[in-house]
Amino acid sequence: MKSKKPIVYIAETDWNKLLNYAQCAYDEMKSEIGGMAEMVPDKDGDMWIKRPTILKQEVAPANCDLDETALAQYYGTVAKKYGSSDFLWWHSHADMSAFWSATDKKTIEDNDGGSAHTWSLVLNIDGDYIMQLDVFNLAGMKLHKSQEFELCFIRRQYTDAFKKKVLDLCEKSITTSVFNKPHHIGYYRGIIGGGTTSVHGASNVNQLSLPVNTNVDYGIVDDTIAYDGMELYNKATDMVELALTEFNGDRMTFPEFQAAIENANKVYDGYRVPTKEKDVPFYAHQLESARI
Ligand SMILES: [Zn+2]
Repeated sequence: MKSKKPIVYIAETDWNKLLNYAQCAYDEMKSEIGGMAEMVPDKDGDMWIKRPTILKQEVAPANCDLDETALAQYYGTVAKKYGSSDFLWWHSHADMSAFWSATDKKTIEDNDGGSAHTWSLVLNIDGDYIMQLDVFNLAGMKLHKSQEFELCFIRRQYTDAFKKKVLDLCEKSITTSVFNKPHHIGYYRGIIGGGTTSVHGASNVNQLSLPVNTNVDYGIVDDTIAYDGMELYNKATDMVELALTEFNGDRMTFPEFQAAIENANKVYDGYRVPTKEKDVPFYAHQLESARI
């Protein structure tokens, strides 16, 4: 009887990202592509693949070589930013099957770099994969063992902002009324907190109008312009996304990032302003699932 493989978890959004890297490299260059990710245990002791990314590299139909300098920079940046010390090397096999080639096996052995184990993942554009842990040192002995893992794809739970959007756009009964300004209502749990919505007395909840002169940068200059809730939501989400990109690209400081979130809240009050820099990465994860 075949024994069940142990499991490693990955968010569906991260898995889709890997598949899209593979697909894009195949579409554009008929090549493989590879990169890194972090291996992070959660509080229950389950292992997760986090933040998969690509690095500068040389690609070919049956090969992809990460740039050594880029890789060294990656280790340094990630260790500093997220405190990760365990990593995954992943690469695609374009439209070929997912298996360890002779080159791959050699790479895995070379990857140990003095550490006791390595994680490796190979996938193709159809979503076939092999996820493997290689251990090079057991009880102090130089002993090489390989263990395959099953991936478990996890859909992130929707955020409060997502819920707010659903509640804003859906009303069980047909009524009409207009908000004077974006509301703040209730459930404030996540990084992206909800505004309230208990509120809607009678209402066409879709109709929001903003406070006068809230944000001239975004063309909201008088209270006669009515935006619908979805437009406001998307506009604010775009602002948060842009701020994230700038912050992650080191083009925006943390205080500037906080100010940008406050600005986004003037458009649609749904984002908690982070007080600590280390809270920022959560925005990225939450935004991925907040998009409808
Ligand atoms: Zn390969």
